[in-house]
Formats: sequence, C-alpha cells, structure tokens
Amino acid sequence: MTNKIGFYCDDKEINENTETIAVEKPEVKARKSLVSIRFEKNNRVLSYYNDKFDLHKGDIVFVDGKLEGERGFVEEVNYNFKIKLSDYKKVVVLADTTVKGRFFFAGDYFISFDKSVIPYEKVITWLKPPVVDEEEIVVSNEDEEGFLLEKDISELKVPYNVKEKGIDYYLDGRVIYLSVDGDTGKAIVDGTNIYEIEFTYKNGEVSNFICDCYCNYACKHIVAVIMQLKNILKNIEENYKEEYRDYFSAVTSYELFKVTRSYNKKGSITFN
Ligand SMILES: [Zn+2]
Repeated sequence: MTNKIGFYCDDKEINENTETIAVEKPEVKARKSLVSIRFEKNNRVLSYYNDKFDLHKGDIVFVDGKLEGERGFVEEVNYNFKIKLSDYKKVVVLADTTVKGRFFFAGDYFISFDKSVIPYEKVITWLKPPVVDEEEIVVSNEDEEGFLLEKDISELKVPYNVKEKGIDYYLDGRVIYLSVDGDTGKAIVDGTNIYEIEFTYKNGEVSNFICDCYCNYACKHIVAVIMQLKNILKNIEENYKEEYRDYFSAVTSYELFKVTRSYNKKGSITFN
C-alpha cells in the first residue's frame, strides 16, 4: 500500500524545496496565566501558575511540585485572576509540538524519511521534561553480542519472562518512537516510566543496546524495540524501499495525533 498522508500543523504553506522545514517555535512573549492542566497518568485536572510561556489549550507542559516529570495537557487558560503566589506551583516546560512534513503509513505507526519531521530530540520533549543536574552516569556497552534481525526472537538470549514481557510491550504498542540514522538507532518506550533506548543497527544486526531503566541485563524494553524494529523494517522493505536511504523515524499514530491536535493550531490532513 502506498497511501501517503500530508500532515500539516501550521497555517503557513510548506515549501518542500527548502531545507528549513523544521522551524523552531517563534519566540513568543510570555503571557501570565492561571492554567488548568490535565495529567494523563491519573487523569486529574489541577491549576498552575504560568509566567514563562504564552500557553494555549492543548499545549503539552511539565510543572514543578508533586507532579514534576508528569506530562500535562493544558485544558483551560485564564488571564484574569488574583492569587497568592505561594499557593501555586508553576509551569516550567512547554514542549515543542509543531510537526510539519510527510508521513507514510505503517500499521499503527507513521514513518518519516525526512530527518526534520520528527527528530528524536523533538519527540522526547513530548514525553518527558529535560533532565537537569543529572547524576553522573556511566555507560558501557563492551562485549555485547549482536542479534541478527532475521532470526526469530526466540533465539534472543534473554530470560524467558523478560522476553514474554517485552513481546507484550511490543503488542501493546508501547514503543512510542523508533528511529535509525545511519548505524544509530534510538527508541522511546512507555513503561513504568518513559525509557530511552539506544542501539547500533548494522548489516541487519542490532547490538550495543543501552536502556535507561538501569537494568543490568537485557530488559523487556529492548525486546520490545527489537520486535518493533523488525516489524517496521519489514514494512519499509515491502512498501517504501525507494524512500529509505539511511534514515527513518516512526511514531505511533496515537501519539502523533494526541500531541498535534493542539486546539489553537490550524492544520489539515490530506489522504491521497
Ligand atoms: Zn529497559
């Protein structure tokens, strides 16, 4: 199937010939507001004070206080209020949810072969706030055996229960995002937390997996990523061989629509 989808979330025309499709959000002046934010994890709506951004309904934000690190969707913005500042926690991060470019269908995923459309650095901001004052992290991935993707997952050397859980994660569509840029693969998995995974993909083989769940063995997140990668590469091989050079990124259609539906934006979708 070679259906194509145009997905524009901006009121400006796209000029496909330019290389500057990834336009940064223009610097907008902050507008003080009291905002109702819905947190998807517990589906609670709470009020926060904002003096850093010009917020709109549908924006993805992160706050300080008890719900630090949980993503929230702005439900309502109020500009007229009188509050005691000490009564309120604040909005500290606004995610960049502008998406412009061309996507290709791949099951429950949308694929892009253009690096500027859904780069990892942008998609991760939809899911977790930037880390500040991170502890010293030691990364080592020596001596790891690779796994040929053409092999059956049953041949992957991980404990049975880890494999089973990983396959469940894969089937549940928990691999929200996956990209391969040259030899470098990256993925985002929605588990107990949002986990970031890096790996090497070369000559049909994956290796050097690092997952930031801090497991000291191959975890279920890695199993899920291997399954999803197999699946997407198969789809690309069957449908979009000419489009794939040395880069693709894929995001679940569910996540893409959830994030880009921001109520304040103009947008259109074209099926042809
Ligand atoms: Zn993990």
